[in-house]
Amino acid sequence: MINRISQVFAMPWYKVLIQLLGVGVILYLFAPLIYKSLTSEYESKPVDKQLFIDGVLDVAKLEETLRLTQEFFILEDVDSSLSIDDLVSSDGAALFKAVGQEHNFGFTKSSFWVKLQLTNSSDQAETILLRQDYPLIDYLEFWRVESGKVTKNIKTGDGLNFDTREIEYRDFLFKIDVKPKSNQSVFIRYQTSGSLNIGLSLNTSDYLLSRFAQEQLAFGAYYGGVLVLAIYNIFLFFAAKEKAFTHYIWYLVSYGLYMSTHNGYAFQYLWPENSWLANQSLLLLLASTLYWGMKFSQEIVATRIYAPRLDVFGNWLRYLSVAFFIASFVAPYELMVQSLSILTVVITSIIIAMGTISLMAKYKPAVFFMIAWSTLLVAVLIYMLKTFGILPHNAFTQNAFQTASLIEMTLLSVALSHHFSELKKKSYTDALTFLFNRRHFDDKFNQEFNSARGEHRELSLLVMDIDHFKKFNDTYGHAEGDKVIQFVASILKNNVRKPLIPCRYGGEEFAVILPRTPKDSAMVLAERIREKVATQSDRERPVTISVGVANVNDISAGGEPLSSSRELFEAADDALYKAKEDGRNCVKAYIPNKGQNEEEIVGSPVEQ
Ligand code: GH3
Ligand code: MG
Ligand code: MG
Repeated sequence: MINRISQVFAMPWYKVLIQLLGVGVILYLFAPLIYKSLTSEYESKPVDKQLFIDGVLDVAKLEETLRLTQEFFILEDVDSSLSIDDLVSSDGAALFKAVGQEHNFGFTKSSFWVKLQLTNSSDQAETILLRQDYPLIDYLEFWRVESGKVTKNIKTGDGLNFDTREIEYRDFLFKIDVKPKSNQSVFIRYQTSGSLNIGLSLNTSDYLLSRFAQEQLAFGAYYGGVLVLAIYNIFLFFAAKEKAFTHYIWYLVSYGLYMSTHNGYAFQYLWPENSWLANQSLLLLLASTLYWGMKFSQEIVATRIYAPRLDVFGNWLRYLSVAFFIASFVAPYELMVQSLSILTVVITSIIIAMGTISLMAKYKPAVFFMIAWSTLLVAVLIYMLKTFGILPHNAFTQNAFQTASLIEMTLLSVALSHHFSELKKKSYTDALTFLFNRRHFDDKFNQEFNSARGEHRELSLLVMDIDHFKKFNDTYGHAEGDKVIQFVASILKNNVRKPLIPCRYGGEEFAVILPRTPKDSAMVLAERIREKVATQSDRERPVTISVGVANVNDISAGGEPLSSSRELFEAADDALYKAKEDGRNCVKAYIPNKGQNEEEIVGSPVEQ
C-alpha cells in the first residue's frame, strides 16, 4: 500500500505524508471561508411569523436578511403585453398568484412579473435593499407603487449599460424606503433570452455591508488563485518552452473570464458599456474554454499515444467549438446556450474517458488529471441541472461550480508539471533497463569530471561488458539476451546507490560513475557486482561480466595526469580490455602502459 502511494506520487511515503499534512492545514485554515462562500447567504432561518401576514411583509421586523421563497406573488406574461398601469389596478392584482416552489424558469419567451407587498409597522422610516442574485438577466425593471402611484422606476439589466443600476454592484440591488406606518407595493419585471432565475432577498444595509466584505474576500481569493496559476505557468512556459503551458494558460484565462462573466464582475469592471459583450461573452468564453480545455487535455495525458481514436474525436470536438464560437456572433442566444451546454457535457465526458484510458495504461500524470476533471464534472452537472430548472437555485448550486473550478485548475497545473517531468525522465532513461541512458551518462560524466578536477575531489569510473554475449544471443535468441541485460541492470540497481550513477552505456555495456570515491573502494564495488552477476545468474546459462576501473588521479600513458573526461573513460575502457584479455569474469584497474598502448588508448573508447 505504502509502496503504491509512493509510486503514484513518485516520492517517498513520508514526503507524501508531509504534503498531505500541508494540504490539510491549508484546508483547515480556509475551510470557514469555503463554507461561508458556499452557504452563508442562504442559511435558512425560521421566518418570524409576524414578518409575513396575509401576503404583506413587515419591513420593521426584518432581521439581517430574508431569502424570498413564498413571500411574493408572480405572474407569467406570455406575450409581454402587460404594463405597470394594468397591474396596479385592482383587475391587475387578481392576475398575480402566490409563488410556488419554482423560482427557476429555464429558457422562456415569457416575461415574469413579481409583486411584493410591504408594510412598515414601526414609527420610523426603514430602508431595505432588494437583491436579485442572478446577474445575467437581460432586462429587469423595478417599480415602487404607493397609494396606486408609481413613485420610483428603474430600468436595468445586462441588456443595458452598467450605469443604469442604482447601486453599482455585480448583482442587482434596489433601494426601498418605507415610511413609518405605511404600505407600498414593489413590482419587478424579468425578461431575458438566457435562463430566467428569480433569486430575491430582502436585506438590511448593515447585513449587506458585512456580507459584501465576505463575498469580496471569497471572490478575491478565487481570482487571486487564477492569477497566481496563470503567472506561475507563464514562468514554467519560459523555463520549459513547452507549448502545452500556453494552452493551459489560454484555458485558465478563458475559464476565469467565463466565471467572471457569470457572476457579473466582467460586466461591472471589464465592459460596463458593452451590453452586447455582457451577454455574448458568456458564449464566446465558454466555446474558447472548451477548445483549450480539450487541446491541452490531449497533450497532458498523451492521447495520441494512449487513445488515438479518442484523440481524433477530440480534434473534431475542438473544431466544433470553433464553429460554435463563430456561430455565437449570429445565431440566437438561447440556441447557442443550449448547444454549448451539450457540447460542454460531451467534451467533459470525452476528456474523462481520455484520462481513464491513460490511467489504465498507468500513465502517472493521469491521476491528478482525473481527480481534477471528476471534481469539475460533478459541479458542471449540478450547474446544468440548475440551469434547466431540475435542481433548485441555491448557494450550493450557484457556487459549487466556481469552487470546483479553482480546485480543478490547480490540480490540472499539477498534472501538467507531472506530465513534463515524466517526459524529461523518459529522455534520460533507458527503456529496456530503466537505468540512465547514454545521453545522461555523457552529461553527468562531464559534469562530475569537471567538478572533481576543479575541487580536487575523488572520482572513479567502472566500465563493464557482458562476456561472450554474441554467443549467448546466437544460442538462446535475442529476446533471452535482452533478459540477461535486464538481469545485469537489476544487479546494478541493487548494489549502486545515490550519489553513484549507474548507466546503460551501450548494447550490453554498462558504466557506473562514482563521485567522491577513491580507486580501492571502486574496486571493491566492482568486484561485488562481478561476483553477484556470476553467482546469481541462471546456472544452466551462466552469465559473467568483465569490469575496468579508472580514477581521476590516474596518469595517462604519457605520464601526464588525466586531463579530460574522455581520457578517464578511455582509461577505464583500457582496463576492461585487459580484463577481457585476462580471461574475462574479472575486475582490472587501469595501469598506464607507456608508449606501447598509446594507439589503443587514443582510439575509439568502445566498440559500438
Ligand atoms: P566479449 O566477451 O569480448 O565482450 O564478447 P561478446 O560476444 O560479448 O562481444 P561484444 O561485447 O562485442 O558483443 C556485442 C554483442 O552484444 C552484439 C550483439 O549481438 C549483442 N547486443 C548488443 N546490444 C544488444 C541488445 O540490446 N540486446 C541483445 N539481446 N543483444 C545485444
Ligand atoms: Mg560489447
Ligand atoms: Mg561483450
